[in-house]
Amino acid sequence: MLIDSHCHLDFPELNADLAGVLSRMRDNGVTHALTISTTLETFPAVRAVAHAHANVWCSAGVHPDVRRDGREATFEELVEMGSDARVVALGETGLDYYRVEGDTGLQRERFRTHIRAARSLGKPLVIHTRNAAEDTLRLMREEGAGEVGGVMHCFTESWEVAQGAMEQGFHISFSGIVTFKNAKDLKEVARRVPLERMLVETDSPYLAPVPHRGKPNQPAFVKHVAEEIAALRGIAFEEVARATTDNFFRLFRHARPA
Ligand SMILES: [Zn+2]
Ligand SMILES: [Zn+2]
Repeated sequence: MLIDSHCHLDFPELNADLAGVLSRMRDNGVTHALTISTTLETFPAVRAVAHAHANVWCSAGVHPDVRRDGREATFEELVEMGSDARVVALGETGLDYYRVEGDTGLQRERFRTHIRAARSLGKPLVIHTRNAAEDTLRLMREEGAGEVGGVMHCFTESWEVAQGAMEQGFHISFSGIVTFKNAKDLKEVARRVPLERMLVETDSPYLAPVPHRGKPNQPAFVKHVAEEIAALRGIAFEEVARATTDNFFRLFRHARPA
């Protein structure tokens, strides 16, 4: 049993052959997946995948770097989206200062609204952070994100940032990046994060792990992430699979295996 805790099954690269994607998951022992919402407009498609497949759950939220020229998702809207029975988390939310020029105030406001909605629903958060670790941890503290907990997804930050998130009760999720040869610091973080705080993910269709690097990613490939972590820690693959699966169902407690 192995779970992909973060993928985007509504994206065309995966959605065009969803049946094939799901059957390759099964063939590779990947039993469940969490498909992640990124925009208001595509949320119905994300939710539809989770309603159509008993082994897929979804999140509700708007990605930090989605530009909004018109209407921004309100607290009430996020609570309404998040109250669906197949929605087990709010996000992906957070801060991404990588490509942004100028004012990042909208991102911070959006992030705060997601944390408030998550607390109101009692559902955990899926947090994305890039070039913004300090502000991310600060807003999590200011808004009391620790009350619902969650996961720092596709983690690429330092051990200190991992500690800062874990102190607030958060889990750390590793993606295919941990298999990249040049990811030395991240491999060290993957050695140090306690197994009971760890999740694995693909963030597919992006970031295919070694040995599929450069090709479209898919949930079945999460096994390469778990294999790499097992090798780094000198433990059995099964131990990583068991721990990350237990963690998934403990954290996303609204997900019940069928
Ligand atoms: Zn992300
Ligand atoms: Zn994502």
